[in-house]
Order: sequence, then C-alpha cells, then structure tokens
Amino acid sequence: MTEWSIPNSVSQLVHLGAILARASGDHCLSCFQLLPKDASRAIFSRVFCSQPCERAYVSDNLKSLSLQDCNRILARIDGLLRSVHAKRSAKSDSGR
Ligand SMILES: [Zn+2]
Repeated sequence: MTEWSIPNSVSQLVHLGAILARASGDHCLSCFQLLPKDASRAIFSRVFCSQPCERAYVSDNLKSLSLQDCNRILARIDGLLRSVHAKRSAKSDSGR
C-alpha cells in the first residue's frame, strides 16, 4: 500500500459520513419506522428514531474499522489540521 492509497476502512467511514450528512426524510435509517415528532436522543436525531437504532446502524456500517484504523485516521486529521494552522499563522505573520 502506498501512502496515498485510501484503505477500505477509511472509504467506509467517509461513505457513512456522507450518508449521515445527506440523509433526510420521515423514516429512521435503521428500523425504517416513522421518526418521532419530538427529536430523539440520537446524535443524528433527524435520521434515527433512537440511540439504539443509531448505535446499531453505525456499528454495522463500521464493523470492519479497527482501533488501529481509528488511530491512523485521527493522526492523519491531526496532521492536516496542524498544517492548516501553521499556514494560517505564517500568512498572518507575513501580513503584519
Ligand atoms: Zn429506528
């Protein structure tokens, strides 16, 4: 694997993120029941009727993601954020 290849686990995570970001409708993504009129306690309350439904859906979609994968992804995001922060700092320093 080269440094620039995207592991399948990362693709699954990005795919799930896209689904959660775009999802909307009247039915729960997990159990397909009508969403309650009052917001559920799920983090994504506009797409899941309950926390257990949300947990089941996310767990099922990320079941191949390992702790090592999560640590690699977090390290990569941390590196990207530090790079952006350093560029912004350099830009604001040169603008003075
Ligand atoms: Zn549900």
